[in-house]
Amino acid sequence: MGTITRLDDLVVNQIAAGEVIERPSSVVKELVENSLDAASVRITVDVDGGGVQRIRVTDDGIGMSRDDALVCFERHATSKIARTEDLFAVSSLGFRGEALASIAAVARVKLLTCEQHATIGTLVLISGGAMERVEEAARVPGTTVTIRNLFFNLPVRKGFLRSRQTELRSISDVLFRLAVARPGVGFVLNTEKRTIWNLPPAPTLKDRIVQMIGSERAESLLPVRASVDGVEIEGWVQPPGEARPGKRQQIIAVNGRPAESPEIRTALSVAFQGGMMPGAHVHVYLLSTVDPRAVDVNVHPTKKEIRFKNPGVIRDVLIHAFRDALSTRSAVMHNSLHETRSHDTIHPGDRRVNEILRAGAVREDNQTWAFPREGVKPIKPRHALHHPRIELETREVPLIQIAATYIIAPMGDAIVIFDQHACHERVLYEETLKRLSGVRAMAQQLLFPLNVELNAQEAAMADEFEREMKQVGFEIRRFGETSFIIEAVPADMMNEPDEVLIKRVISGLGDPEWSSLSKHHRIASSIACHSAIRAGEHLSQEQMRDIIDRLLATDIPHACPHGRPTFIQVTPTELERRFKRT
Ligand code: ADP
Ligand code: MG
Repeated sequence: MGTITRLDDLVVNQIAAGEVIERPSSVVKELVENSLDAASVRITVDVDGGGVQRIRVTDDGIGMSRDDALVCFERHATSKIARTEDLFAVSSLGFRGEALASIAAVARVKLLTCEQHATIGTLVLISGGAMERVEEAARVPGTTVTIRNLFFNLPVRKGFLRSRQTELRSISDVLFRLAVARPGVGFVLNTEKRTIWNLPPAPTLKDRIVQMIGSERAESLLPVRASVDGVEIEGWVQPPGEARPGKRQQIIAVNGRPAESPEIRTALSVAFQGGMMPGAHVHVYLLSTVDPRAVDVNVHPTKKEIRFKNPGVIRDVLIHAFRDALSTRSAVMHNSLHETRSHDTIHPGDRRVNEILRAGAVREDNQTWAFPREGVKPIKPRHALHHPRIELETREVPLIQIAATYIIAPMGDAIVIFDQHACHERVLYEETLKRLSGVRAMAQQLLFPLNVELNAQEAAMADEFEREMKQVGFEIRRFGETSFIIEAVPADMMNEPDEVLIKRVISGLGDPEWSSLSKHHRIASSIACHSAIRAGEHLSQEQMRDIIDRLLATDIPHACPHGRPTFIQVTPTELERRFKRT
């Protein structure tokens, strides 16, 4: 029998650190969260040696008194909650009171802090959990926490760390997420005396995104907005046509906390289903507010995952908001919004912004910045999202077909170039799905029924999918072992149905590429892929108009079912660039 003993504080804290402090980026996350909770406006993070050598977080927040500066390293010492009830309505990022205790147990820590309006600050040194020095020290109000030799007393954990670059990247990812969640706060990241980013406080989320990914990439983002049942969502999503495999930049902040939850993941995959290649994804940047009592943030030691009281509500609001964002209105017209940009309008991503901020510029509206000086033309506020007149416009001007493959149309200020095959694929895909889930389709009886010969596998498909194919508008009758008679095809789905085409559609039902899809999606994919108008086909004005009108009525007009873009836009900004007018 063993003898049970109570573990001493250092061991307890090291155990906690095992959960909370996995790697240098966890330290950065905890320290920056503390700075945010302390109402800081500017936060600077300095990192050396991938964070193992040194991490320093400097803020201009409320600071701490001498007493607090000592207590804050104790386990379960927090100023953020006091009673159990508070745990059910946490509005701060921290609340567990274990970050500083955990960090101090596995590193050397220097804390320099000064309360607002205090005349002198406090310096605390603590190493491997042991307090080494406490003294008065000068500092402007705010807090600096310096961490050296992370895991110096836990060689095993140290052995698990990756290269400096990898750790630095992880730190930069953590900060990126926090910077999206808090556009109003300025963030600077330096490493080995070089500045990696410098993000001044931004008036809106869009401005913050522009700072981070550049105005060119931010330009194509679609606005997402919803307000339902006490859940407010606003943000930006990349059009599905730009989806790429690779790193995921899907940041959704809930009450200022970058958070993950199964509902968020489901909503993303549902909303984008059928709009992207498997494995590809779009960038998403969203801020949401919900009643803090409706979320449980205390389900994960690093508070990464959260749980919603009414998961269904949040999922549905998100799906709705994404679908809305992907609909025609924002899809095609959105770009014209950017075209009011004139030379006297400056975006926070521009280099000039820092100077302006320093010169005390005023904010004209929530998206543009202006010089409050004479001699500069006043700035037009950006257009509100005006009602789309796409349909009208395409009716007034003739459409142009180029290379028997692309359809060109002026829309708003931009030139839109459609890929006729991709567009028609998207149309047929969605129309087929709608027919499968709703009213039975109009069938077009063939004057002369077609006779197709199918091989054994195709015949099996024709049998297996008979009911669904009928729902879509195909009437297929077996006529012998391998012969089938096609008596009707879906109305307005095929230009000139012939044996080859129908054989391809049926054969496509068994395409291994789609084997993971549901029956409905397999039918939709096969019809879209095999019966859409091809590149190289000449189209009449009516046909082009018909395709575009139907495309604009789809849920995800930006991309074909494989995720290729259906159209691209050439904006005046782009033209200016190419003609070297800027
Ligand atoms: P928690 O954030 O969960 O409360 P921490 O261990 O991270 O726990 O911090 C303990 C306490 O120390 C906080 O509740 C806060 O009062 C104080 N504190 C930590 N960092 C800062 C900071 N940068 N500015 C002001 N107070 C801070
Ligand atoms: Mg904390």
